[in-house]
Amino acid sequence: MNNLPAPLSTWARNVSPSPTLAIDAKAKALLAAGEDVCGFAAGEPDFDTPDHIKEACIAALKAGKTKYAPTPGIEPLRQAIADKYAADYGLKVAPSQVVVSPGGKFSCYLGVLSVCSPGDEVIIPAPYWVSYPEMVKLAGATPKFVLADDSTGFRLTPAQLEAAITPKTKLLILTSPSNPTGAVYTRAEMEAIVAVAMKHNLYIMSDEIYEHLVYDGVQHVAPATFGKDVEARTIIVSGFSKPYAMTGWRLGTLVAPAPIAKAAAELQSQMSSNATTFAQYGALAALKEKEKTKASLQAMLVAFDRRRKFLHAELNKIPGISCLLAQGAFYLFPNISKFGMSDTEFCSKLLEQEKVAVVPGSAFGAEGYMRLSYATSDEIIKKGVERLARFCATLRK
Ligand SMILES: *Cc1c(COP(=O)(O)O)cnc(C)c1O
Repeated sequence: MNNLPAPLSTWARNVSPSPTLAIDAKAKALLAAGEDVCGFAAGEPDFDTPDHIKEACIAALKAGKTKYAPTPGIEPLRQAIADKYAADYGLKVAPSQVVVSPGGKFSCYLGVLSVCSPGDEVIIPAPYWVSYPEMVKLAGATPKFVLADDSTGFRLTPAQLEAAITPKTKLLILTSPSNPTGAVYTRAEMEAIVAVAMKHNLYIMSDEIYEHLVYDGVQHVAPATFGKDVEARTIIVSGFSKPYAMTGWRLGTLVAPAPIAKAAAELQSQMSSNATTFAQYGALAALKEKEKTKASLQAMLVAFDRRRKFLHAELNKIPGISCLLAQGAFYLFPNISKFGMSDTEFCSKLLEQEKVAVVPGSAFGAEGYMRLSYATSDEIIKKGVERLARFCATLRK
């Protein structure tokens, strides 16, 4: 018999599997094997989906909402999403500009695929969410990384952006509040960045999945609110996973100028069809039953804020570690560059010796840091930082 031809495509060989999912899976496996693991790796709320959302989904299931739905989403949900952007940001969005997808991650991929061709460059500020570079590569385009480290609060400066733009640049990806750093751009900072993007006629993909998870009274700023020119070049991607603790539901949103939204829906029609029909009725309840949703979001925010402050204070007590107080999402991104080893080595030793799971900064394009998610219990956080402090003390000896 002949040898098998090489089985894997260029795409399959070039894709890097998600390091955050991998570390989280490793921590969960250790936990299942009876190890006492403190997990800071998960990128999901540790809360359950609110009951009114579950109940609406169950009712839809019982009412036979078990068939294919229109690819871009059920009409009432697209309308409710359009209404949400009008109410929250004063944006006039037609339901035809809304696509409901199987997850915020897929919305990002649709956004990239809709505007990027081979040869295009996409500017990705680092530290970045792990999936963006892979999506850009899968679209045949080229990711261009610009490191915005803790010296600028993990926020890209207009000068850095300007320096990274070439005639091939098509798209800028912005994530505020940020995963992995929790950084939130102020209005003035966002305006300055967007002005540079507009000057060079770039598209912006604004990932706003953490828009509601902000602290200290700061407000999320949506670039699309900066005027018609910006709106005409902005793709807003978001989803239900983070604000409503619905990670397993797989529901994302994309809001874009009509031609882009249409392209995204057409791509989706060939790649996955509609997001799960009955799940969309749960999402509809999340947007329609505003008071209940607000109450559960508020309860989640109170817990996150308490943990954020505690974890931040404890991290900064550890000699060698310095950590900014992030104002959004549910992550802190301390600097661990003073320990004389790579972040990957630091994090794997930490997991081995102290059973504390964190993700190295290099997974997000920023060597010398680590990401801790505080979407876990107060007890785990307390125990975890004690172990981290003990670990760091052994390194200094
Ligand atoms: C979690 C996350 C998403 C999408 O999550 P889904 O579960 O796919 O909806 C998108 N962007 C960022 C920055 C995230 O952290």
